Amino acid sequence: MPELPEVETVKRGLEQILDLPGERLLGVEMSAQKLRFSCNLDDLDQVKGQHLHSVRRRAKYLLFELDRHYLLSHLGMTGSWRIENESKKHDHVRLKLKSNRVLTYHDPRRFGFFEVVNKNDLENHFRFSHLGPEPVDGDEFSAAYLYEKSRGRKTSIKTFIMNQEVVVGVGNIYASEALYMAGIHPKLLAHKLTRKKAEQLVRAIKDVLNEAIFCGGTTISDFKQAGGSSGYFQNFLLVYGRGLEECHFCGTMIQSQAIVGRSSFWCPRCQKL
Ligand SMILES: [Zn+2]
Repeated sequence: MPELPEVETVKRGLEQILDLPGERLLGVEMSAQKLRFSCNLDDLDQVKGQHLHSVRRRAKYLLFELDRHYLLSHLGMTGSWRIENESKKHDHVRLKLKSNRVLTYHDPRRFGFFEVVNKNDLENHFRFSHLGPEPVDGDEFSAAYLYEKSRGRKTSIKTFIMNQEVVVGVGNIYASEALYMAGIHPKLLAHKLTRKKAEQLVRAIKDVLNEAIFCGGTTISDFKQAGGSSGYFQNFLLVYGRGLEECHFCGTMIQSQAIVGRSSFWCPRCQKL
């Protein structure tokens, strides 16, 4: 499932292959109404003829910024974008561009979806209004923010940082990695986080996501030919998936256990409870 770093990689790939700003959507074809939620065809009609100004990302949503609307694209499990005029199996949406090219959305498992959102309604839209700050863009996600937000919260710190209302885009793998880097036990109760540890954790979350985006960055060169592949960050995981192996720092055996149903990995020596 594409997480924040993969969606950011797709966004950057799209920025490279599209002539922005200055591109224009001449037509939109949705070949099958079989995606996770069917997009209203009247809504899709509204975006025709609008200029394409930029591609943005909020949490795991791609937002094509048009004159009056955003065309929202969620990649589901297997969604990808490519420039190709030929259509093939599992291509569900085709955006015809002024530059005579076709931007094609491909999704074999069809968990992705689209929506047309009025530009002015974005912040209050039900998909966005509850979302916490972005972890890698902007300054809102700071140690002071995380510390204040965690006061009175008696859930585990791992579950806390995976809550999209606290901060977006920290998936299960990245949560384990960041907690390991910050030396914090995943079961620590969130309200017990100290200011110093909040600082280390925010730094670790930013670092792990930026590194993953950097690794996903190799996908950009394949992007035109193959659509999004998955990057190579999995080769650099420090703790996730390493149960019963030795900790890179201290040699202690990595422990693993499900926390709120999600597999979790930690070093009992480096991450004391
Ligand atoms: Zn260790």
